[in-house]
Parts: sequence; C-alpha cells; structure tokens
Amino acid sequence: MSVHDNLPASNEAHLNGPLFLNAIQNFNEAAKVINCDPNIAERLRRPRRCLTVSVPVRMDDQSVKVFTGYRVQYNSTLGPYKGGIRYHQNVDLAEVVGLAALMTFKNSVLGLPLGGAKGGVCVDPTQLSRAEKQGLTRRYTSEISAFVGPNKDIPAPDVGTDPQTMAWFMDTYSNEQGGYAQPGVVTGKPVEIGGSLGRNHATGLGVIYVCERAMEMNQMKMAGSRIVIQGFGNVGSFAAKFAYERGARIVAVSDVSGGIFNGDGLNVPELIKYVKQTGGVKNFPNTQPLSNSQLLEVECDALLPCALENQIDTHNAEKIKTKIIVEGANGPLTNAATKILDKRGIFIAPDVIANGGGVIVSYFEWVQDIMSFFWEEQDVDAKLKGVILKAFDNVYKFKQEKNIDMRTAAMAASISRLEKAMLLRGLYPR
Ligand code: NAD
Repeated sequence: MSVHDNLPASNEAHLNGPLFLNAIQNFNEAAKVINCDPNIAERLRRPRRCLTVSVPVRMDDQSVKVFTGYRVQYNSTLGPYKGGIRYHQNVDLAEVVGLAALMTFKNSVLGLPLGGAKGGVCVDPTQLSRAEKQGLTRRYTSEISAFVGPNKDIPAPDVGTDPQTMAWFMDTYSNEQGGYAQPGVVTGKPVEIGGSLGRNHATGLGVIYVCERAMEMNQMKMAGSRIVIQGFGNVGSFAAKFAYERGARIVAVSDVSGGIFNGDGLNVPELIKYVKQTGGVKNFPNTQPLSNSQLLEVECDALLPCALENQIDTHNAEKIKTKIIVEGANGPLTNAATKILDKRGIFIAPDVIANGGGVIVSYFEWVQDIMSFFWEEQDVDAKLKGVILKAFDNVYKFKQEKNIDMRTAAMAASISRLEKAMLLRGLYPR
C-alpha cells in the first residue's frame, strides 16, 4: 500500500512524484477528519486528464529543437480549470500533476468557481532569446489549444513565465480561433490587453489582510506590531509596504543578498527605492546585517516567510520567536516544523489561503474579461479583501470545530466543498 491510501501502489511514475505524494498524504489526513465519502476521496486522488506534447522550436541558429510540454487538468467540478504555466528545466509530468492537484485544493478552499490545472515546459528559459521564447510559447499554445479556452481552462504565469508570455499565449489562441480577441483565455496579462489593475500587488496585499485578521483573532493589532519578512521580491516587498502603511514596524527583512535589522523599524518606502537602485537590501543605511537564519529567529509579533520553500524545519522551529506566521511563499514550513510550531502555540496562516491573493485577482481578471468591463484598483483591492477573509474565516471555523491545525483545516475545508459539489453533480454516466 502507498500513500494513495486504499489504492494499490501506482506503478505510474507521474503519480509518484514527491510533491504529489505529499499533497495526497495531507489530503488523506484531512479526508479522515471530515469523514469524506470514500468514492469521492478515491476520485480526488487522481488527475482527470494529463496531456503531454512535443513543442518544436526554430532556434536563432536555424536548427529545430523539440521541447516537451504538459497540461494537467486535475479537477473541474467547481468550474473551468485554472492554473499557471511553468518554464523550468526540472519540469516533468509528475511535478505538473502535483502542482495541478495543489491548484485544485487551493481554488476550492478560496471559494472560487474554478477547477485546478497546471502546465509547463521542460526548458531553461534563461537560455532562450526573446524570439525563441516567443516561438516556444506560440507552439506550446497551439499544441494545447483544443483543451484550453475562456470556458474550459485558463492558464496564468508561474515560474519562468510573465505577462509578456501571457500576451503571446492570448494572441496565438485568438488567431487560431478565427482572429477574434479572446482575452479571457489567460490571466496575468498586461493591463493594455485585458489584464487587471491591482494584480501586481495582490499577493502581498492578501498576505497583509490575512495577517491583520490573524492578529485580531489573537488579540493583537497591526499598528505598532513588530514584523519580520524573509524575501523582498514581489510578495515580500508589497507585504512590507502595506504593513508599513498600517503602522507596523518592519524590524528585519532579507533577500538573497542577506538580511538587515533595525529595532525601531525600517523606512520601507526608502528601502524599496534602495532595492530598485542597488538590486538588494544589503547595506541599507542605519541597519545591522543579519544572516537569513538569524533573521528567522528575530523576536517579533508576526513572521512572514515570502521567499522559498522549506525555510523553517526541525532545525530551527524551536528557535522561532513569533506569535504568528503568515506563509507568503509556497511551502516555507516543513510538515514536521508545522507540528512543532503548532504545539508551541504559534498561529500559522497556511500558504493556500495566505498567498491566495494572486489567484483571486486572476479570477477577477477573467471575470472582467468576460464582462468587458474593468474595475478601478480600489474595487479590486476591496473585493480581494472580501474573498480572502471569507475563506480564512471558514478555515478557522473548521480548525475550531474539529480541533485541528490550520493547515489540515484548510485542506478539510477544501475537500468538504469539493465533496458536496461532486455528490450533487453525481457520476457520469451514472
Ligand atoms: P520573487 O522572485 O519576486 O522574490 C523572491 C525573493 O526571495 C527575492 O527577494 C529573493 O532575493 C529572495 N530570496 C531568494 N533566495 C533567498 C534566500 N535564500 N533567503 C532569503 N531570501 C531569498 O518571487 P515572488 O513572486 O515574491 O514569490 C515568492 C514566493 O511566493 C514563492 O514561493 C512563490 O511561489 C510564492 N507566491 C508568489 C505569488 C505571486 O503572485 N508572486 C503568488 C503565490 C505564491
């Protein structure tokens, strides 16, 4: 028997990747807590459809290279499939299956009317010229175009892809559909061709909405609180900006260049300018240098890991001195560390909710494209707050009712919504 629970161990390599097995292990634990219907659980442990395509590209030296691309459509019970496209040299079908499963559970727990999918191409995008990247994107789009569309499957950017990649995707798809603009086929597009205002800062803002609510639940206030942030990229820098604007003291931040500390709080607007000029936070005036491991151990009210996965594990979980952790990054805490921190009474806002701002505003982008009616930035921000806090409160309710940790509660809330919808739709053909 495997972590596929009551299924025999699968000999299919794409169902045995570490990311997928880990997701299924969490799934099995949560399914037990809510007594999930075993037929539903069995169905949810498998992707619905896995597509593998060959993507020939004319390189700048005129040779043709063939790359392998994937699109995995995991579950569409709640609505059209949705999930990003990754360009990375480590992409394989097993990884894409794992990521597609995670998107399914994430979209469900966030209360979005969307299923889960993921795509990718095994390629190192840093080795491609702009023309080669465009050629790759257009042919990959063409290879999967029968399976995507505004009502079917809506990709988005992920590691190695960006708004320009989405613009090429949208243009190729639109041309193949008779030359009519179809902005709703992808999200994360530039604003000029149907992207949404507020998308760029959405994940960082969502992190701060969740952090504020977690503080409220723990009788704390954002104003005057001490916050530590690991990572100062898209998520970390916007989280810092929005926390600073709410009166928090950002006492330490770090990026790949190292960490900085100032007990009175950093001047975040100045720091953002400094990072734009110098490329990193290192040597920002009036700060003491810190290593990344020291940063995680700084005493604070809220710790926001917004950089990489597996940053807090059994080696440092006992040394963390915070009351709240909000996971801006994907998977910054190992499962073992989560258990230790939970026992120590540290409140954890799990990644599926805490960094959900990006996919929530992607959903808004799709809605605006379908309506051809675009919202002001403050409307996007306000709607984001409504959706993310509703999801967070729902997960908290599961935690209280079932007496489980927030991560298991998030998975339980997600499965519970999928289970109800799947039972209502029934099994096709019967
Ligand atoms: P980014 O590339 O813009 O920023 C990453 C930051 O982490 C950079 O400041 C980098 O210097 C720093 N970093 C890298 N290695 C580090 C190390 N060893 N120690 C400390 N800092 C280090 O990426 P991002 O978009 O901000 O994403 C960060 C995390 O959030 C990732 O896990 C990503 O998957 C997740 N996430 C991002 C979004 C989004 O909308 N951008 C949405 C959901 C989840």
